[in-house]
Amino acid sequence: MRTAVFGGTFDPVHIGHLMMADEVLHRLSYEQIRFVPARIAPHKADDPGAGPEDRLAMLRIVSADREEFVVDPYEIDRDEVSFTIHTLRYLLSRGEIDGRPGLIIGQDLVDGFDRWREADEIERLADLILVRRPGSDDVRFQRRHALVENVMLPVSATGIRERVQNGLPYRYLVTEGVYDYIRRKGLYQVPSTSM
Ligand code: ATP
Repeated sequence: MRTAVFGGTFDPVHIGHLMMADEVLHRLSYEQIRFVPARIAPHKADDPGAGPEDRLAMLRIVSADREEFVVDPYEIDRDEVSFTIHTLRYLLSRGEIDGRPGLIIGQDLVDGFDRWREADEIERLADLILVRRPGSDDVRFQRRHALVENVMLPVSATGIRERVQNGLPYRYLVTEGVYDYIRRKGLYQVPSTSM
């Protein structure tokens, strides 16, 4: 199956992520979006708020009624820092992906991409897919990539976590299932100090 890999912390998964995934499916004719939540993202030193199992559970909720969305717990299960190159090699070794995998990258990550572990090798193994993000500068991405003209939604997981903490509305920034899950589990109420 033609697959685009979508990594991130997804803390929580929100409508910005979902629209991105949908636009990539639609515009670049992938058949599957594979969400791969990071256990510990190398570029985020701070504690992300919710634990890996809750982040995974929220992704499973949004994927449940969408055949093209698949959640892969590979990085969560690995119990160490996640690097994209390892994930790509693992997915390719499993033989579930037809042709080259796509790799979705938000505009805000372009600047740091060269510092990703084995960045050249990532580019060799995957088709990079750049997705625009409100608030990010129009930086030039020097690597070969496809640009998706996605709808710009100024939503971030950080903003949602802050809204929950401050008692502000966030209901329509996530799906109904995720909203219910956050409330049921009492996520993001206080800044947490451990994963
Ligand atoms: P945080 O606020 O915690 O940093 P986030 O909202 O940026 O989280 P991540 O899980 O870090 O979400 O993002 C995964 C990927 O999705 C990244 O490539 C990021 O650039 C992209 N992304 C997140 N939100 C949006 C959005 N609203 N529009 C476009 N891209 C987005």
